[in-house]
Amino acid sequence: MSKKYPVLIKKGAITELANYLKKHQTGKKYAIITDDKVEKLFATKLQNKLKRAGIKSEVLSFKKGEKSKVMATVEDLANRMVDAGFTRQDAVISLGGGVVGDLAGFLASIYMRGIPYIQVPTTLLAMVDSAIGGKTGVDLESGKNLLGTITQPKAVFMDLDFLSKLPQNQIRNGMGEVIKYGVIKDKRLFKFIEQNVEKILTLEPKAIEHIVKKSVAIKLKVVRKDEHEKGQRMILNYGHTYGHAIEKMSGYSLLHGYAISIGMVIINKIAVQKGYLKEEDAQRIKALFKAFQLPTTTLKKPTNKDIQSDKKRQGKYINLVIPTKIGKAIIHQEKCQ
Ligand code: NAD
Repeated sequence: MSKKYPVLIKKGAITELANYLKKHQTGKKYAIITDDKVEKLFATKLQNKLKRAGIKSEVLSFKKGEKSKVMATVEDLANRMVDAGFTRQDAVISLGGGVVGDLAGFLASIYMRGIPYIQVPTTLLAMVDSAIGGKTGVDLESGKNLLGTITQPKAVFMDLDFLSKLPQNQIRNGMGEVIKYGVIKDKRLFKFIEQNVEKILTLEPKAIEHIVKKSVAIKLKVVRKDEHEKGQRMILNYGHTYGHAIEKMSGYSLLHGYAISIGMVIINKIAVQKGYLKEEDAQRIKALFKAFQLPTTTLKKPTNKDIQSDKKRQGKYINLVIPTKIGKAIIHQEKCQ
């Protein structure tokens, strides 16, 4: 993979960002890209910390939400960066959830043919998933994430204190992905989650640090072996083929983590039917989603046609990630009918 980058995960990680930037001189000046909600919560705090260290920055925000993750926002931010005098010597700090991370990373990857960026994720989902792996991008009317690049950040700073402001549904949303890692790669992580539901939901610091660190380690390991998703990275799409279809069918009103929980339950059922997974394991996984009040069923189940429009389809085949037991999964190629 392209160069390794540091990932700092701790309460108060943001305090160390200024020192890191002084030492590594990622840019002369930083565009802190964020959404309007995160701007109010954390942008001034971050900017002040940089200022005290003598680092120049400017905050550029856009309206929160997936609807903003489009080319028009990228263009608007790029124009504002040009007006503010950002050049190829400068860099981007992405401060926010996955929407900000995907969009700011994409903008950085194309601004003046590419400038460095640093990820500062503020949602659980962004910490355990989107801030790692370098997938950047925006949505098109015809589908999510259809324009984008794979560009790794220079560093990732995960300040666990940010999570204290996050609404409960966003914690549950991130837990959909964390449980995914347990099922596909780490039975001990899965067991830890089962035994610490309350602690996780109440953001007990040690429990949160543990699940974030484990998730990040799993994602980094997979991505480092297969940055461009030619093989093993596909394993991370467990539950996503059906999940994406469900998300789309809901008009994106259903949160990603909620949609993939249903997607994982659907694929587990298929795995049991095909004789790959024991029914009791499928039930255990379902029970864990329920413990986090994540949905496990949908009234309108995606049809074969719905899942075949998935952008991960390869010709006549669709790759389905099938768990074979808790902690292990395989990639199964299914012929499209
Ligand atoms: P989001 O960025 O929209 O954040 C959710 C909401 O939480 C927003 O309203 C935001 O303003 C608010 N928020 C952010 N941090 C907060 C905090 N600390 N306290 C209070 N409120 C806060 O959504 P998300 O769930 O973080 O990310 C979803 C996006 O991530 C989707 O666009 C998805 O496609 C993308 N994604 C990308 C990857 C990848 O590999 N690049 C992986 C998974 C998901």
